[in-house]
Amino acid sequence: MSILEFDKNHLWHPYTSATHPLTVYPVKRTEGVKIVLEDGTELIDGMASWWCAIHGYNNPVLIKALRDQAETMPHVMFGGLTHEPAVELARKLVEISPEPLQQVFLADSGSVSVEVAIKMAIQYWYAAGRPEKNRLMTIRNGYHGDTIGCMSVCDPVNGMHSMFSSVLPEHVFADTPLCGYADGCTDEDFADFKGKIETHAHELAAVILEPVVQGAGGMRFYSPEYLKRVREACDKHNVLLICDEIATGFGRAGAMFASEMAGISPDIMCMGKSITGGMMTLAATLATKEVAEGISSKGGVFMHGPTFMGNPLACAVASASIDLLLESNWKERVAEITELLCSGLAPCAKSNAVADVRCLGAIGVVELKKPVDMDSIQREFVKRGVWVRPFGKLVYVMPPYVISNLELEALTSAICEVVGLQG
Ligand SMILES: *Cc1c(COP(=O)(O)O)cnc(C)c1O
Repeated sequence: MSILEFDKNHLWHPYTSATHPLTVYPVKRTEGVKIVLEDGTELIDGMASWWCAIHGYNNPVLIKALRDQAETMPHVMFGGLTHEPAVELARKLVEISPEPLQQVFLADSGSVSVEVAIKMAIQYWYAAGRPEKNRLMTIRNGYHGDTIGCMSVCDPVNGMHSMFSSVLPEHVFADTPLCGYADGCTDEDFADFKGKIETHAHELAAVILEPVVQGAGGMRFYSPEYLKRVREACDKHNVLLICDEIATGFGRAGAMFASEMAGISPDIMCMGKSITGGMMTLAATLATKEVAEGISSKGGVFMHGPTFMGNPLACAVASASIDLLLESNWKERVAEITELLCSGLAPCAKSNAVADVRCLGAIGVVELKKPVDMDSIQREFVKRGVWVRPFGKLVYVMPPYVISNLELEALTSAICEVVGLQG
């Protein structure tokens, strides 16, 4: 039986039907910024495998870190044991994140790191003798992962809350920020958030949001001024702030972490996706000393501990990936990518099918007026030698930072061409 046949009959892919599966393309190997299909077709990758492979594929430095670690200690439990790969990674994470974040929890995926952040916030107030502060507040159009706890703070409409409403805790949703990245944030822009946090502060453990860039919930960029106001409101009303930097972290939005763009630091921060440069699954939740010590007061312990916590292979690769990033001129490169994405995607705006074109950091988005037909648009991209995977009305790229200018141009011109066929 061919790969494709067995796949079709037995494998789930993300968000797909078992009986009416969409086309999948069999991949033979990867190299640099290319995905090579079984039939030899080479695709320039615009997705960095869901925004993770910032240094490109098969990066020799990351492969060496993985090999070296595999030979000494692929894995060991983290209960009662520790090791250099975990300590080195935690040291780096504390160093590159905002100063108040000092305590690191190593999780195995982004969703788990969000679950951990939520549990930290709830345990913090429980330990403080305020167990009634156990709800969360967020903004619409957010995305925080697919597990039940994460789903409860995803956008209620595009996060498909209706199907799961019987099991999802009900949280507080403020309107999505309407002030764009380059706008300020007026009292009017902030009014809904302000009103809701005032009303609910007594029962809120934390506000959770994606700083400045809302990713899978709509690829929206909003004003750092808004985020600054969120931080002030959280302080004023005694509510913790969780920044989900899983998509934005490690330079993607133009700063090491997008929180920095607002000059703020959260009480709890989630990192994931590009933390290992896309080679291994790993995530982390960082907390301030105040949160960590609060949870641990009166003999309290933090109640979470995944089987593969602190996996040495993933930690070693993450450390090597962060070193690679810090040794590169990532900030200048991301700024160049912004320029090229903006100029390369600008012609799309002429198409009748297009509602908006926007870029920030190493993120370029073309928002269409109508949702795309996934199978057919994907085929058009593959025909043109690029890998772009839209969702809903959004055709976007988040390429590896090491992509060449020529490859970037190939990506953007393919997008303009394919978008021109829509409508
Ligand atoms: C991808 C993502 C997650 C979930 O991470 P997984 O590794 O898929 O569990 C959570 N929050 C944000 C902002 C993300 O982009």
